[in-house]
Amino acid sequence: MYFTSNTVAFLDGEFVPAEQATCGVYAQSLHYGYAVFEGIRSYNTPNGAQIFKAEEHYERLHYSCKSVGLPLEYSVEELTRISYEVLERNNLTDAYIRPLVYAATPNMSLKVATTSNVLIAVWEWGKYLGDQLLRLSVSPYQRPNPKAVPIEAKVSGHYVNSIIASSEAKGRGYDEALLLDMNGYVAEGPGANFFFERNGELFTAPAGSILRGITRNTIIDLAREAGITVHEQFFTPDELRTASAAFMTGTAAEVIGVASVDDVTFDTPFQQTIGGMLASHYHALVTGQTATRAASFAKQQ
Ligand code: PMP
Repeated sequence: MYFTSNTVAFLDGEFVPAEQATCGVYAQSLHYGYAVFEGIRSYNTPNGAQIFKAEEHYERLHYSCKSVGLPLEYSVEELTRISYEVLERNNLTDAYIRPLVYAATPNMSLKVATTSNVLIAVWEWGKYLGDQLLRLSVSPYQRPNPKAVPIEAKVSGHYVNSIIASSEAKGRGYDEALLLDMNGYVAEGPGANFFFERNGELFTAPAGSILRGITRNTIIDLAREAGITVHEQFFTPDELRTASAAFMTGTAAEVIGVASVDDVTFDTPFQQTIGGMLASHYHALVTGQTATRAASFAKQQ
């Protein structure tokens, strides 16, 4: 459930009952998918609620706004402070935070907006793709051509691609889709980045046709800190036949193992893979227990 009658949301400068945070049907954003958003998590840590990488997320929100010409009147610091206040007003520490910048003005033109609206909503959300290893299938849908849309921006309209790809894979009995880019290289999932492992090294798609996930960056940093080589390079789905393991990363999904991609299966128990170790290291980091976990993780390598 995203909200109840007690939920408070931030909307255009005020903290309002979530039930009253509505948008008219003539809004330019609704008609054209012309909005940008973020997906952020807060964790209960020994120091109370801590929003993981708030600055990076709100900088990306600013970047997304700029990419599509939506004005954003709030600074990274203001957006962070407001997010903490929304969490507090809803009595939440472990929560998902959804900022949305949109154009509510009735406007059917194809011009960039001159004003924008800002919503920050919070709710409790379990791991978006669940806890079980994922059975992926290469999607017949490609990621959008980066020459058609600013693919590194988190634009609402881009998620039509995600919805249809994910639904199509689920319709064929898989857990999630894996999308290729316009050249046939593996890009990412509908809402998460993809990594595979080979000979103790990690491989993930380079910037270009993906959303450069903040979790992806965190995992790359954690891996390199642990002395694991990470390659950001193009690869085809066929190359996955040489992989020993794979996993996906995202703020909502966190770090989740992959059991198979179509007929390619990964048999090593996830806990014994690099992804499995990075998943527990990631958990230790976001929940503020890094020091001890980092040390034991380093020893295992
Ligand atoms: N790719 C796509 C298409 C996504 O929607 C997301 C989720 N924001 C990600 C990757 C992962 O990004 P992040 O780690 O910043 O949540």
